[in-house]
Amino acid sequence: MRRLGFLLAPLLLVACQSQTSDPAASDAVVNADWDNIGFDAKEQRHSPLSQINDSNVSELGIAWFKDLPDARGQEATPVVVDGKLYISTAWSKVFAYDAKTGEELWSYDPGVAGEKAVDACCDVVNRGVAINRGKLFFGTIDGRLIALDANTGARLWETQTTDNSKPYTITGAPRVVKNMVIIGNGGAEFGVRGYVSAYNVRDGLLKWRFYTVPNPEGKPDNAASDEIFAKAANKTWSDGEWKESGGGGTVWDSIVYDEDLDQLYFGVGNGNPWNHGLRSGGEGDNLFLSSIVAVDPDTGKYLWHYQETPAETWDYTATQHIIQAELPIDGKMRKVLYHAPKNGFFFVIDRLDGTLISAEPFVEGINWAEGYDLATGRPIENPAARFYKTKEPFVAIPGALGAHNWHPMSYNPKTGLVYIPAQQIPQGYEVPVSEIDKKRERLGFNVGIGWAIGQLPDDKDVYKAAIAATTGRLVAFNPKTGKVEWGVDYPAAWNGGTMTTAGNLVFQGTSTGFFKAYSADKGTELLSLPMQSGIVSAPSTYMIDGEQYVAFLTSKGGAFPLVAGVAGGVTRQLPNIPRLVVLKLGGKAAFPPLPEKGEVTWDPPVQTGTPEQIAAGKGLYGRNCLVCHGDSAIGNGFTPDLRISGVLPDTQAWASIVTGGALKQHGMVGFGSQLSDAQVENIRHYVVNRSIWTKENLPEMTAPTPR
Ligand code: CA
Repeated sequence: MRRLGFLLAPLLLVACQSQTSDPAASDAVVNADWDNIGFDAKEQRHSPLSQINDSNVSELGIAWFKDLPDARGQEATPVVVDGKLYISTAWSKVFAYDAKTGEELWSYDPGVAGEKAVDACCDVVNRGVAINRGKLFFGTIDGRLIALDANTGARLWETQTTDNSKPYTITGAPRVVKNMVIIGNGGAEFGVRGYVSAYNVRDGLLKWRFYTVPNPEGKPDNAASDEIFAKAANKTWSDGEWKESGGGGTVWDSIVYDEDLDQLYFGVGNGNPWNHGLRSGGEGDNLFLSSIVAVDPDTGKYLWHYQETPAETWDYTATQHIIQAELPIDGKMRKVLYHAPKNGFFFVIDRLDGTLISAEPFVEGINWAEGYDLATGRPIENPAARFYKTKEPFVAIPGALGAHNWHPMSYNPKTGLVYIPAQQIPQGYEVPVSEIDKKRERLGFNVGIGWAIGQLPDDKDVYKAAIAATTGRLVAFNPKTGKVEWGVDYPAAWNGGTMTTAGNLVFQGTSTGFFKAYSADKGTELLSLPMQSGIVSAPSTYMIDGEQYVAFLTSKGGAFPLVAGVAGGVTRQLPNIPRLVVLKLGGKAAFPPLPEKGEVTWDPPVQTGTPEQIAAGKGLYGRNCLVCHGDSAIGNGFTPDLRISGVLPDTQAWASIVTGGALKQHGMVGFGSQLSDAQVENIRHYVVNRSIWTKENLPEMTAPTPR
């Protein structure tokens, strides 16, 4: 159906130019799908539809919407095939709707156990489904790959792709390539060994597997990756914690198929631990961390790789969205891929052999490297950035959440621009000093850094500076010139993915609660619809019966809101509403009004802990709690604001949750296996301290985030 839409695009343009006043009447038989998460195999997220365009986009309104069951992060791009719209949601649930009317056709809940959430670094999210010949494929947070009948939602098969005794998860969308469904996994913050697998679409039997990091025992895996590791990759690793941790290198998002060259590309994540000094003795590039790897799709055999961040040590993943394009270079058309990973540089790479063509910054303020040496393909690093060598703290831009995270970017062949949902979230790194930061644990991040530097000091000016330093930006990057053509600044980070269309438009939802459209060539804002909730997902667009729709999910969610604390800034004031929203020209549907905000009495318990106990609690909080409950225990809309928790005054009730796991069905498992009763009580003293301090010093922040 997509090809039909593509061929009809010029006709549609004519039709809408002549009949913009009544688009539904323009052509009753025209349909166009969005049948792949990234639109098509090239994943440019560019639609040839132009009925909605830069002259009428301000008339967009809500056609229909559906509230979703779980107030967690919603990161999926809606996929539309043959008039049916499919999404995956938090907790790996799948929903199918009539794409025109919004009628729910079926839903599927794989029944993931609540306690699995503690193994998800970045919320229990899911970024989408793959549809192929009547089958729907998706991954689950507990590592299963499931095939459903796309018409009925009936399960056809499922297979466990991971060892569930380890903290593996799946959040990325599978891709269907040549009768195989390809899937990766996540978990590199905790300690797993990354790989990509190909399963037969018919029965879910494993066809090949490619590991991204070496076998810890130095043995062959009987996998597609064995040859290249024996030949070249093993020797890029030295002795270190990777042998215990698995090394990381998870392929948790981008996997794309090159139809021109019959090659499969995937982006590889960070190492475990992050700290290269601990991971690999500070020696070696550690292939294939932070690399784009090309393999033969039929066998999984290695073809080429390009490593964007050798000897990765800042959580600079290369998992971000890969776009395939063609670019004239010195008069010759080259098949290239575009990539804007966490590390802040935009890469143009030759798809034939992985040669680096250019690497230019897409954000300002990058301080870990000044650029790339194109002769060697390697970054020109700032020596101070390698904190484990200097033994000095380093505040890096970008930080671990990246100048660009998973939020998909898009490419418009007409403007030649790539639209990147960029951001600035600085992060401090230092070697672990305390015993609790040094120790590997089953629960919580095992990344080999000291957490104290990630916790803001008790200084309200620092709090305000942290909010000001954390920003977002829509960047229109020109890969031909290596320059930013235009940009739109946002007051907060973690804005939604982008989509661009032949209507000279770029669409993006924001973390501050608006769905926006800009002209693709100039960046002029043409639409800003209030959406009641933050938006992190990317939109898609489709046409049914001659009428064009734009679909996306609202919610706050994912890694940044979990960990942000005060740096979440204005986004903290928005509720988290999980919802599928579909727009059309002249849409008249309206959301129900938001419920009245309840009165909150900020009444901190009496502090019974000593300064020493509070300090100990702060260290324990940083190591065990911060990545889900936010810096300074500030909530975020989907994990609670602990500073006003009902159990905070009560040692026994607090311990029943933190030690005993009374709320494990929501993901808050008991930490009794790694924290003593005294340690759990010290964490309580610290959170009481945060509650009292906030009331005394920052009364404007005593309004808790709505949930
Ligand atoms: Ca990571």
